[in-house]
Amino acid sequence: MDNCLFCKIAAKQVPASVVYEDDELLAFKDINPAAPVHLLVIPKKHISTLTEAQPEDTLLLGKILALAPKLAEEHGVSVVYGEDGSPTRGYKTLINSGPDGGQVIYHLHMHLYGGPRPWRGMH
Ligand code: 5GP
Ligand code: ZN
Repeated sequence: MDNCLFCKIAAKQVPASVVYEDDELLAFKDINPAAPVHLLVIPKKHISTLTEAQPEDTLLLGKILALAPKLAEEHGVSVVYGEDGSPTRGYKTLINSGPDGGQVIYHLHMHLYGGPRPWRGMH
């Protein structure tokens, strides 16, 4: 899509701090992190919002979600179980859709937040 910031990042026309790339997906650091770890995962294909995703995009959506635990592991925020079996650390995944959903960039993306709390403005 012309004039889409995240398409330009996917096409390497706009620089980003890329942490993962394959044929279909790109993950990079958020420019204005709201948590110690704040990554964005995008499909390279332009999809404006989750609402525009088609049935044939279901596997792609699954790949976006499935990348989260791998990135969390690589960035030291994966869920770790203590000796008593209780979970520690962890991360949040979030997709904003539309204005009331808080979406600002209209190229589908999943946020991954992690690291010691508190995080800016988030529960
Ligand atoms: P949204 O509110 O649309 O879910 O989130 C958009 C996110 O994109 C925001 O967290 C914002 O900081 C991030 N962002 C906006 N412009 C850029 C940019 O040029 N580069 C990177 N890496 N992140 C950006
Ligand atoms: Zn786009």
